[in-house]
Amino acid sequence: MSRVSVDTDVCIGAGQCALTAPGVFTQDEDGFGAVLPGREDGDGSPLLREAARACPVSAVRVEEA
Ligand code: SF4
Repeated sequence: MSRVSVDTDVCIGAGQCALTAPGVFTQDEDGFGAVLPGREDGDGSPLLREAARACPVSAVRVEEA
C-alpha cells in the first residue's frame, strides 16, 4: 500500500498531479495540489508514480508502507 501526500510548502500549483492522476489528486481553491479525501493510500492507481514524476517541483510524495 502507498502513502501519498503533497508538500504544500513546495507545490507551485502547476496542476500536473491532478491532470495525470485525477483519481487521486485534485487542486484546492488556491490551485495547489491536494490528495482527494480517502485516497491517501493512492487507491492502487498505476498513475501515481507518473504523477509524482510529472510534478515540476517534486512536491508529490509516494511512500510505500
Ligand atoms: S504537480 Fe506538483 S506543483 Fe503542480 S499542483 Fe501537483 S503537487 Fe503542486
